Amino acid sequence: MTKILVYGLLVLNWIQIGVINGLSDGVPIGAIFDRNSGQVHTAFRHEVQSFNRAYSGVHRYRLENITKELDVTDSFAVSNALCSHLSKGVLAIFGVSNASSLATIQSYSNTFKVPFITISMAQNTSSIDSYQIYMRPLYINAIIKVIEHFEWMKVSYIYDSDEGLIRLQQLFQSTNSYEYDLHIDAKRVSSVDNCFNVLYELHKKDEEENQRIILDLQMDKSEEVIMKVMLFHDICNARFHFLLGELGMLEMNLSNFEIGGINITGFQLMDPKNQTAQMFLNSWSNLDPKEWPGAGKKSIKYEAALAVDAVRLFTRSFSGILGIDPNFIHRQTGSANENKGIKCTDDSLVTSRQGDKIIKAMKSVNFEGVTGRVAFDENGHRKDFTLGVYDVGMNRGTAKIGYWNKNEGFMIQQARLWREFVHSPNQNRTRIVTTIQVKPYVMFKNEPEIGEPMVSKHNLEGYCIDLAEAVAREVGFDYIIKFVDDNKYGAKTDNLTWNGMVGELIKHKADMAIAPLTITAARERVIDFTKPFMSLGISIMIKKPENQKAHVFSFMDPLSYEIWMCIVFAYIGVSVVLFLVSRFSPNEWHLSEDSSITNDFTISNSLWFSLGAFMQQGCDVSPRSMSGRIVGSVWWFFTLIIISSYTANLAAFLTVERMLTPIESAEDLAKQTDIQYGTTKSGSTEAFFKHSKVDMYHRMWSYMTSATPSVFVDKIEDGISKVREANGKYAFLIESTTNEYYNQREPCDTMKVGNNLNSNGFGIATPIGSDLKDKLNFAVLELRESGQLAHWQKKWWLDAGTCPPQKTSKDGAQSALSLDNVAGIFFILIGGLVLALITAGLEFLYKSKMDSRRYKTTFGSAIRSKARLSFRGHADGGEPSTTRMRKSMSTYTYTGPSQVVGVDAYSEANTHTQV
Ligand code: ASP
Repeated sequence: MTKILVYGLLVLNWIQIGVINGLSDGVPIGAIFDRNSGQVHTAFRHEVQSFNRAYSGVHRYRLENITKELDVTDSFAVSNALCSHLSKGVLAIFGVSNASSLATIQSYSNTFKVPFITISMAQNTSSIDSYQIYMRPLYINAIIKVIEHFEWMKVSYIYDSDEGLIRLQQLFQSTNSYEYDLHIDAKRVSSVDNCFNVLYELHKKDEEENQRIILDLQMDKSEEVIMKVMLFHDICNARFHFLLGELGMLEMNLSNFEIGGINITGFQLMDPKNQTAQMFLNSWSNLDPKEWPGAGKKSIKYEAALAVDAVRLFTRSFSGILGIDPNFIHRQTGSANENKGIKCTDDSLVTSRQGDKIIKAMKSVNFEGVTGRVAFDENGHRKDFTLGVYDVGMNRGTAKIGYWNKNEGFMIQQARLWREFVHSPNQNRTRIVTTIQVKPYVMFKNEPEIGEPMVSKHNLEGYCIDLAEAVAREVGFDYIIKFVDDNKYGAKTDNLTWNGMVGELIKHKADMAIAPLTITAARERVIDFTKPFMSLGISIMIKKPENQKAHVFSFMDPLSYEIWMCIVFAYIGVSVVLFLVSRFSPNEWHLSEDSSITNDFTISNSLWFSLGAFMQQGCDVSPRSMSGRIVGSVWWFFTLIIISSYTANLAAFLTVERMLTPIESAEDLAKQTDIQYGTTKSGSTEAFFKHSKVDMYHRMWSYMTSATPSVFVDKIEDGISKVREANGKYAFLIESTTNEYYNQREPCDTMKVGNNLNSNGFGIATPIGSDLKDKLNFAVLELRESGQLAHWQKKWWLDAGTCPPQKTSKDGAQSALSLDNVAGIFFILIGGLVLALITAGLEFLYKSKMDSRRYKTTFGSAIRSKARLSFRGHADGGEPSTTRMRKSMSTYTYTGPSQVVGVDAYSEANTHTQV
């Protein structure tokens, strides 16, 4: 019973399928291909056949393919073919178009609502309502990004078709909207030979000029042109850089270009690693080329791959529609006796057609095709696709250098080991070593008087030249040396590309950089470094200040001017206080020998007492009162400390030639604005300050960027000249090893101050993935371990130094004092003696004058008698000095316990013999 039921159901199913098939199982599609389209037509045909082979097993319909091969530039023939397709009721038309026929096709497909799926160039003229689907993506922005990456300012755009002209227009429009200042010289060529001639003339016009060329020809033509340039030695050189306008870079035989001197960059739409593409290529390579022209190999032109994806796009969309609406197929195709065809002159049937459903389904489809992700925006243009960017050049193989897509833009070498080699470069080639001219790393042996010196390794010398020679010998490669084009070390520019030596390595313009190139994290992300061959740090270079030589008054130097002034005021103050307290204190008053009450501390005695104490001498007056002794004690203590400190410093100040530097450290620099400071441009020192998170360095960076005129210099020599010329008003932040070298060179007027700000090293740099990286690393380590690096450092730094060694304080301490150091004290001594003599003379004259007046004699006789007296001595018994001193003191007559009457007790009559 169950068996009968199962058989019954099967029979019913067969009947149902039969009914549907009977109605219609063929979906008519039209195709228009160019007569010479070859592989494209084959791929289309093959894909339709592959689909139909799965009919009834997988699909419920077959594709009925009606293909017309014609000359697509002939709009009349295209119109006829379209009308013919429409009359057969095709649901979609596939094909190629050119700039002139596209307009005709667009108007037919829009009018009759029949989708047109083209593999020809996309134009941005379509809109939401249009019935065209463009399999080939719009990628003009990718071209601009690559141009930007290479920093081209001027390009020659060579094209040979109307499509090329349209792309040129797109390029102009896009560069305007990007505000990218690009100078474009456009040339239309008619043939490969014509194109070659144009290139020849371009090169001959200025042989020194770099020729950046956008070659917008079909891939095979581009290949032919470049081969021609390569084979013509007169113009073949590395100044040519071609950017190919088509999307099938890998279709060329790129290994041919790995030995030429030409650089080529291009795009690749079909990723050879894509699984869908690999599966397709497997079946494609098994086809018999006799039956399937162009097939039978493991490669396909990207245009043919687009034709495959076009068929897949239609079938997926149509199957999608049938999944929702199984009767859609009947309504569209009708039964066998019903004619659903359209006459081109008759639009009565247009409204009943449902082409809008098909185009809508195609615009919403999303799958992984042979050419990558197949998805469309509302205008029928590809979205979410990715283009591989490949590059080939002399001695560096063919490699994928990055990719471009709309969301991420041009992603290039951001990660290590990015360079995916398609063909590995030749290992035995001559390597290009980029470097920079800076002493003592790379210098010319002979600088010619006129003209440019010849850059050859035989005409160069220096630490890095020795190093290059040694590593080349050890690793075993031949090399040539070239100076970096922009004379920079390497920094990330505003458009995120690198300049300088780092940029040249990234762009594979050189195989390695042997130069004082600092290893930094940012650089390590984009290039490789060996272990450091030299250690260093950022340091400060300033102009050497004038030596503070010991001078005749050097003995004053141990104490500053302010301290000397304070001591003078302290001395006067103490003397005055001593005088006052002695006056007030009764204990200071005492009976003198002549029974008068006296006080020793007159103002002059107070000054004399303080001076005696300060000079560590005694004095025959001494305070008796408590208060006076307190004053005396504190003054003694004060002088004890001052004199000890003075004595402790004195030796150093008398003997050492001291250098007073205005700046001692980076903190000193950061604190002030009087002395400017800066770095070289586009180097690791600049980057250190720019990216530092340390507050002080950050402040220094803000100062440097805001300073006018600019404190940055193009090259190290400029910085050093600036230090020399600015008279101490400019400090240069420079790497310590270079700093030390220049300090040892004539005119010996610069010096390094303070400690290094950081510590890093110089390394040999190579592009990421270089075959030499590990070998160079070993070579550097071996040279270091064998002491060769240290030997070179001695050779280029110490042995080549021309400045006398700087005196240290130790050296100074050992040398004997010269008269220069102490002449000042002799001067003071002589001055004092002379002053004493003059004072004595004046006293003598004054006294004689007073005597002549008092005793009414002449001034002359007074002098004579005084002179006699002076030389004979005091005949009447000159008083001892102490007595005389006392006599000069204030003397008081004590008249009673409560009364002290001051009188001038000094009586000439009592003390002097009258003349
Ligand atoms: N050696 C440094 C560099 O590699 C140059 C500098 O900035 O001082 O960038």
